[in-house]
Amino acid sequence: MRIAVEDCFCEGLPIMDGKLVCDLEGAIMEGALTKILGKRVVVKEVKCNVNGDDCCEYDLRF
Ligand SMILES: [Zn+2]
Repeated sequence: MRIAVEDCFCEGLPIMDGKLVCDLEGAIMEGALTKILGKRVVVKEVKCNVNGDDCCEYDLRF
């Protein structure tokens, strides 16, 4: 499952090719979802504004 975050905190940061700075946000999401759902959820950032993408996108695995 993919989740796109349009208003990520990293928006407006300078573009840094190859950098995905929202791993932290992904980790927070991962912890929260694992708690809410009561099972292991893995969140991986696949797109980031900072990498020049149009939004931040996360790949969720249940
Ligand atoms: Zn971001």
